[in-house]
Amino acid sequence: TTTAPWRVADRKKLYMADLESAVLYTLRVEAARFSHLDEERLSALKQYVTVLVKYFPGRLVVMNYLHNLDLWLRPRTNVSQNNWEEALRNKAELPYARLPENPLWVGCQGSKPELRGFPCSLWTLFHLLTVQEALLSPNHASPSEVLPTMRRYVQYFFGCRECAEHFEGMAAESMHKVKNKDGAVLWLWSRHNRVNARLAGTASDDPKFPKIQWPPQDLCSSCQIIINGRRMWDEREILRFFKAYFSRHNIYLDFIK
Ligand code: FAD
Repeated sequence: TTTAPWRVADRKKLYMADLESAVLYTLRVEAARFSHLDEERLSALKQYVTVLVKYFPGRLVVMNYLHNLDLWLRPRTNVSQNNWEEALRNKAELPYARLPENPLWVGCQGSKPELRGFPCSLWTLFHLLTVQEALLSPNHASPSEVLPTMRRYVQYFFGCRECAEHFEGMAAESMHKVKNKDGAVLWLWSRHNRVNARLAGTASDDPKFPKIQWPPQDLCSSCQIIINGRRMWDEREILRFFKAYFSRHNIYLDFIK
């Protein structure tokens, strides 16, 4: 059992604490595991940080931090673990650029320490980025840059290798069919639901947060329609719901120090 006090979260909201924790975990833990970032991995990391700078709706201090990191990364061709850790350090001479030191899960808090947390926040961050991209550069003819960036992140950095293999399988099968940014939002939504269906009832299922086909009725009653007695998703309503749920105005700052 966890000794930390339970943080009560509103299921209708996103929490900046989870999102910033996802960012710090990807950079300070996952990308810091390698003694050396070779060209391929470094290129995946640069792309990821650039996408965060463009689309992460973070607090000013966090955006400044990411912007500095992006500028630092751009010209590099070779980065050792020490270089990377030094670049990531919160620097006192840059008081307006800071990333929290430790992750704190709120909406992603699990009923046991080994449940939820980082993978939950990574999904949340990825959904948020696809939606922010669709809101900020909604050109319907141009493809998503968030989706391929995420794919490479998972391929090169996601610590759960079995998860990465499953995800790459889904990406290789159908990601090339995604035409635009709304399509990217829907692709990620439907693949996440496939993962939920596969994992429901397994050891990674937190009994307090069972894996369901998402969003449930109480979050979006118009997202499901009945056709010929069968329950179906209404993709237009899913998009409308996602653009509100994963909007910057739906993020609570509770528990942020
Ligand atoms: P999560 O599935 O992590 O979801 C987080 C939150 O997102 C939910 O609480 C809900 O609010 C919301 N949500 C749920 N479904 C959707 C949806 N369809 N669209 C938008 N939002 C949604 N674990 C394994 O054991 N095997 C795997 O193969 C595996 N593959 C993974 C692949 C990726 C890319 C990632 C990021 C994680 C993977 N995991 C895998 C971990 C697993 O999917 C969960 O993240 C983990 O078990 C924690 O589950 P959770 O209950 O917090 O909900």
